[in-house]
Amino acid sequence: MQEWFIPEKEQQAVMNTRTSGISGGGVNLTCRHCDSMIDILDFPDLQPNSMAPDQFVICPYCQSGFTLDTGVLQTLHRTGSVEGNYFNIPLTPGGRQIDDFNGVNVGETRPVPMHKIHEGCEYTSLFITGASRKGVNEENWLPFEIADSQNQARLGDNLLITVVRTGPTNLAINSTLREGRDGQGPLSFGDEIDVSYRATVSHREVTNPTWVDLLVDAQHAIQEDNLLAAIPLLRSAVDNCLIRQMIIYYRWEGHDLDSAIDEANDLENGHLNRYTIAKHGLEEVSNTRLTSGPYAQLWDDFDDVVQQRDSIIHCETDPYLEEPEEADVIRLFNTTVAVLVAAYDLFEFSGAVETHNG
Ligand SMILES: [Zn+2]
Repeated sequence: MQEWFIPEKEQQAVMNTRTSGISGGGVNLTCRHCDSMIDILDFPDLQPNSMAPDQFVICPYCQSGFTLDTGVLQTLHRTGSVEGNYFNIPLTPGGRQIDDFNGVNVGETRPVPMHKIHEGCEYTSLFITGASRKGVNEENWLPFEIADSQNQARLGDNLLITVVRTGPTNLAINSTLREGRDGQGPLSFGDEIDVSYRATVSHREVTNPTWVDLLVDAQHAIQEDNLLAAIPLLRSAVDNCLIRQMIIYYRWEGHDLDSAIDEANDLENGHLNRYTIAKHGLEEVSNTRLTSGPYAQLWDDFDDVVQQRDSIIHCETDPYLEEPEEADVIRLFNTTVAVLVAAYDLFEFSGAVETHNG
């Protein structure tokens, strides 16, 4: 199970930026200028229903502006190295992960609300993270392992626990004993089990930048075991995000939106794609390339996404397409997000954008 979390020390930093001194935890939007993660308690003040990819969000802590794209990328960039485990992270701007737990009796289903979900938010993905018999010391816990999907787990030899999303803020916890088990096992009907789970929460009213939508769809495809479907989305996400970073860079430099798009188009006579940005775009702004600079190996790794995408898209004479392994597609997902974070690192959006929303 991949984990995305905000280190405690950074939670503290977020807390300090709030005048009230109360923090609800950061969402995945970080101000490029003051490096503060936006606190969930401040998020409604930013009017999520007006958050669109080409608008600047005004940081509540330093009043400078940043776009949703840079807000999400800054969050990913500040968590450490460029390469990382990005699968299952919250990508929708304003999203976050929450951990919750509840009990269920063996042999029963328990409908429960997901706690800590703020108004206007819903959770989209659900992962089981642990289970144990209530009141039993940790040294006597039964073995816990994830079963066929991330919302199913086995406890000991005979119990299958499933957490099921039943609505935007609700779930059901099921706990079922295996048919034909040996009656002498440690678990029987009615025993209470503590179950913990993690949910990815997003805000309903925020409009995702295209590359975020593509990555979210790729994540869902992988979670649903639609592995072939995920790969073309990954390549498209990189094209879109690199071009958006270039346009945002020009806006950072003072261009309005139309003029920034013109500048990007001028890079290679309007042939805008990931190569244009990875080579000429980045060379112009940072004297380095994504294709040959410090991230050359990562760019080479991304070629695996490109090759596999091409073989899926151009399958005209293939009698069948071989289904990739899930672990390989998750690796391609991680490489894809790492390429976007690497480009963000090279762009070095400097200074602060005041408030122009051109
Ligand atoms: Zn700020």
